[in-house]
Amino acid sequence: MKYRSIKKKITILYTGCIAIVLLIVLAGMLFYIKNIETNAAEEELQGKSDAFYGRIQIQGEAFTIPADLEFYNDGVIISVYDNDGTPVAGSIPSNFPIQTELKDGIYQRIEQGDDHWIVRDKGYEYAEGKVLWIRAISTVYGIERAAGQITAAVGIAFLIMTGFIAGIGFRMLSAALKPVDVICSEAGEISKGEDLSKRLTLPQTRDEMYRLTIEFNQMFDRLEDSFEAEKQFSSDVSHELRTPLSVIRSQCEYMLGEAKTEEEAGEIRVILNQAEKVIQLITQLLTISRCERGGEYFQKQEFNFSFMAEMVVDTLQEMAEEKQIELSADIEENLKIIGEETLLMRMLMNLIENAIYYGKEHGFVKVKIRQDGDRICGSVQDNGIGIAEENLDKIWKRFYREDKSRSNTTNGTGLGLAMVKWIVQLHHGEIKVFSEKGAGSEFVFYIPNELNFKGK
Ligand code: ATP
Ligand code: MG
Repeated sequence: MKYRSIKKKITILYTGCIAIVLLIVLAGMLFYIKNIETNAAEEELQGKSDAFYGRIQIQGEAFTIPADLEFYNDGVIISVYDNDGTPVAGSIPSNFPIQTELKDGIYQRIEQGDDHWIVRDKGYEYAEGKVLWIRAISTVYGIERAAGQITAAVGIAFLIMTGFIAGIGFRMLSAALKPVDVICSEAGEISKGEDLSKRLTLPQTRDEMYRLTIEFNQMFDRLEDSFEAEKQFSSDVSHELRTPLSVIRSQCEYMLGEAKTEEEAGEIRVILNQAEKVIQLITQLLTISRCERGGEYFQKQEFNFSFMAEMVVDTLQEMAEEKQIELSADIEENLKIIGEETLLMRMLMNLIENAIYYGKEHGFVKVKIRQDGDRICGSVQDNGIGIAEENLDKIWKRFYREDKSRSNTTNGTGLGLAMVKWIVQLHHGEIKVFSEKGAGSEFVFYIPNELNFKGK
């Protein structure tokens, strides 16, 4: 789903609500003002029309319009009609439709092209059965113009107010939510890095953010404790098991020498083999848990990485030949590095062993080592069974083996790559895997030449 900042969402939401309320209020105001204007215009028509009638002289059934009576009075044009609606006196605006019906006491809005008028007709009964119609016409241009100006002003005011509210609100929200950004980036740093002892910076203000930060820090405390406990447990267990297992192994070796029959020797060898496997496993576990604790258990020294790599390749030639795999090496000479030699040797060995073990018969395994800036870059490539894309992240986990059916066989524990990862991390290096199921895999690692772990 698309990422939408909470600040933007809240700003859009409340600006939208305020804009709607503002729109209703302003529209109400506009309607009210327009109404007042129209009422005023209508009252003026009525007043002028009544005043005009008041000046007409009535004698019995006859009427006389004084000569000095104006038909145009301050924007209002007056016309007079007799009982049958025949024009008697006065004038009408040019363009005004003459056929407009006389309607007693009703305000009519008449439009003709661009001209708009408001008309008020009134029939005054001046004698029995005799009605004198007075039509007062006023152009509505004034009202329309006023209304147009007000609408424009209201529209501009609306836009300015909405923009202002959105701007101020966004700034206030940004300030209020700034600690959340800080928490996010710091928490991200902690979870990305290897140092679980780091904590979030407490905000200055004692508010919800302060409480949230405290809660997070407490959660990190608990996480760190449980990680520590787990590390301690595997380290202790491995350590405690090593001694009795060594005793079993040496006893077996002794008994093997003393065995009287081949059958007896065979049985002892089974126990010895199993003991060797468990010792190997325990040693791996111990190495991993020591790597996890940082460099304090290891000794760093300068050594020739090229030489070490050639030795590892030579050692594994036999294993490759058994599977008729062509193991080739392209190693740049004299690459010097400061690090833990036995660990780096174990790392390379694990990668090449895997490449052979999961390689295809009559296939190939290519080892390449070269200098890359201030790091050594190595790659181990095979054309074996490959790894499914969805499992590429999992292979680094302890005891993970992709092919579950192999898990029950005696070969492999699923610790090899976990160890590789820890060794690389301990040396502040990087490792990547590229693989395609059925086509093969390539493991590429980078190890800095100068190491700065806190070794002895
Ligand atoms: P061991 O602890 O003895 O090395 P393992 O080889 O099963 O046991 P890892 O080396 O950690 O354990 O490897 C984990 C899993 O990753 C393997 O079981 C295998 O499924 C997969 N894998 C590792 N390397 C390769 C490779 N080169 N080609 C294909 N799959 C591989
Ligand atoms: Mg392995």
